[in-house]
Amino acid sequence: MAFDISGAGLTSQRARDRLVKQLSELGIRNAAVLEAIRQVPRHLFVEEALVHRAYENIALPIGYKQTVSQPYIVARMTETLLDGAPVRTVLEIGTGSGYQAAVLAHLVERVYSVERIHALSRSARELLSRLRINNIGVRHADGAEGWPAKAPFDGILLTAAPREVPHELLVQLAPGGRLVAPVEGVDGRQQLVRYTHTKEAFVRDQLDAVCFVPMLSGSEQ
Ligand code: SAH
Repeated sequence: MAFDISGAGLTSQRARDRLVKQLSELGIRNAAVLEAIRQVPRHLFVEEALVHRAYENIALPIGYKQTVSQPYIVARMTETLLDGAPVRTVLEIGTGSGYQAAVLAHLVERVYSVERIHALSRSARELLSRLRINNIGVRHADGAEGWPAKAPFDGILLTAAPREVPHELLVQLAPGGRLVAPVEGVDGRQQLVRYTHTKEAFVRDQLDAVCFVPMLSGSEQ
């Protein structure tokens, strides 16, 4: 596929600048996170028919009944993940379009991302390679297992909501590392939570109310 790097690209840059301004007004403070969002061409990660809405602060469909999160949520989760001890490696569960992974790739040394739908993992891998983002590894598997061969990670980010964070993921956190995830309560409502791996335990704090697709088990073609 050819990219339009002429007129539409310039318009996209202005649209991204406006989005970044809006995110900072909404309370995103981390300048590096805002800069990453300014750089990543979100219009390439959404369905073609919705390209004109790519820089609105809304979730958008990416096929297979999945969505790319609202930019504010991407920024907020990324900021939360980075807040604390330095983060060099991140594991993301739910590659989807690859957008969140691309944002992370601007901020950390290496991103590992796992996706259970084969077609999504393949198209994300292709797009990231076309964009020459070379510090992301994408794997097609059930993310509940994490990526043991690459563990431990300084940060783990879930972009699909489980009922409970799988223990298998928590144990792949490096000491001092943080895991940020939307967790679905019994009432069906979701809350963003952060676990910090301290010397004694995994300390949990509750953050904003959120709305993500559910984390499903197994992988599919
Ligand atoms: N981070 C993505 C958001 C994708 S939506 C982006 O930036 O576009 C959540 C994704 O999680 C979906 O693609 C869904 O297929 C995936 N998912 C759900 N359960 C999963 C699991 N157990 N393992 C891996 N991926 C999972």
